[in-house]
Amino acid sequence: EMFDANPHRLPSTNIASIFRNSLSEIPAKLATIPPFLVLVAPRHTRSQRSYRYIIPDREITLDNSIVQLVCLKCQKTNHDPETSKDFYFCNECHEKESATVTTDATITCYCTNCLSDMHKHLAGSIHTHHTKRVSSDKTKLNLFAVLCIETSHYVAFVKCQKRNPLQHEWLFFDSMSDRMYDEQNVPLVDSVPDFDKWIDDAEKGKDDFFNWLDDRRGKRQPTSQTFNENSMRQLRLFRDGAFFFYENADMNY
Ligand SMILES: [Zn+2]
Ligand SMILES: [Zn+2]
Ligand SMILES: [Zn+2]
Repeated sequence: EMFDANPHRLPSTNIASIFRNSLSEIPAKLATIPPFLVLVAPRHTRSQRSYRYIIPDREITLDNSIVQLVCLKCQKTNHDPETSKDFYFCNECHEKESATVTTDATITCYCTNCLSDMHKHLAGSIHTHHTKRVSSDKTKLNLFAVLCIETSHYVAFVKCQKRNPLQHEWLFFDSMSDRMYDEQNVPLVDSVPDFDKWIDDAEKGKDDFFNWLDDRRGKRQPTSQTFNENSMRQLRLFRDGAFFFYENADMNY
């Protein structure tokens, strides 16, 4: 869950900025590189969202400013102004020191000073230690689903891998697309070929696009009449996006 009260009353933003603002508000850093990340759109109140429109970034980069590395030995972090920003993992030292087993999912690493301390006595056998630099600046999380909620009507946009792993398509899922005999919900699954374009366009001309949506919403007609099916889905995506699901592409699970 995120906290971003939108102090500047912006009508729209993107989810990555909310995520960053939220971490600096708490303040908090990530202690680990997560395999999944679920971001929840912030709200002023239960019914009022902090932003009228949210653009889901297709990619969020986790860099050193939001990921915290802590040295297992001295507890210094990569945000400590006096420590070097380089942190290392050494398999052999870690096995030897495994009395310091941590149960929480923090990143196992040592600062430059502690590593060279531990390696000082090794002399000739240093080659038996396999050291590797811990990097937290290149992790990318990819958007794979957005769950949109308007009162109790849930719809979702879901990314599906095609047979060619480099290709994907976006699907739209609506469990209550239609009703039969006024009692049964008829679900709908449809492909959304323009999903990437919607986001590109929203990122490029966001004020124009969202002003247009505002303008349309201001009309005294049911939204089903002012919006065609395609722009209705855009409205659902940008206005009702509530849960944003990201996965770490580098992680195997
Ligand atoms: Zn240290
Ligand atoms: Zn080590
Ligand atoms: Zn070592």
